[in-house]
Amino acid sequence: MNYQDREFFKKLPLISEYSTDIRTALSLPGGRDYKSTIIAGPCAIESFDMLYSIASFLSKLGIKILRGGSFKHRTLPYSFSGLGQEGLLIHQTVAQEFGMLSVSEILHSEDIELFKKYIDIIQVGARNMRNYPLLHEIAGIGKPIILKRDMSATLFEWLASAEHLLKFGSEKVILCERGVRWCDNQFRNLLDLSSVAWIKQYTDIPILVDPSHALGRSDLISSLSKAAVACGSDGLMIEVHLDPPSALCDSQQALCFSAFQDITVQCQRVFEGIN
Ligand code: PEP
Ligand code: MN
Repeated sequence: MNYQDREFFKKLPLISEYSTDIRTALSLPGGRDYKSTIIAGPCAIESFDMLYSIASFLSKLGIKILRGGSFKHRTLPYSFSGLGQEGLLIHQTVAQEFGMLSVSEILHSEDIELFKKYIDIIQVGARNMRNYPLLHEIAGIGKPIILKRDMSATLFEWLASAEHLLKFGSEKVILCERGVRWCDNQFRNLLDLSSVAWIKQYTDIPILVDPSHALGRSDLISSLSKAAVACGSDGLMIEVHLDPPSALCDSQQALCFSAFQDITVQCQRVFEGIN
């Protein structure tokens, strides 16, 4: 650790002391099965039947955590913005049917009661990473929180947001690197694996990598997933759809079932190779 790193931690006393592993934070059984820390599912929940088909496939593969947005933060006001409360109910029903945990993004603090009732793991999206009042309000509800990195946040700003969660009572904070803005418009974002390496080396906070939002395209997710596992990522978050071209949200980055299945097999091999 260099001088700059030491100064970094002086400002973040709770992060410096925080120590947990992803399985404890997410109440998953122990083991060396990498699949159980891969979170997968659609960008947005579109209907009961759609989520049911996806969850049925994922649970057969051994995936334990089902993602799906019901409140979507969309750039354009004309885009599909989720099913709202109906989506949360679908999410809970389907996740329980397959014995999976649910993860969904909260946008507004007025929805906290709904999330407490329907959702197991709360996601704070990139666009809300700096919404400190929201962080303070969700920190005390006792559920694990996945804190995604704002696309323009420095490593310090991201961890400072995690410090807010710890300060306001959260005991289960998990980071998620999802890519940062860069000058190249070939990709949606640049996946910052340097941050993952640094976080693994100098902290004891669990971290996930989301290669779907990092790239914005499905064809390179396999390579980046393997790189993330090799870098020490505790898990992945990947968007999967029954029929990617028809997805109502983020269709270009959604993986079809067979491509996703291949990735789980390859990531398990990388994981075993380095551990
Ligand atoms: C998402 O996970 O669906 C999402 C919107 O991600 P991010 O907040 O990283 O853009
Ligand atoms: Mn998405």
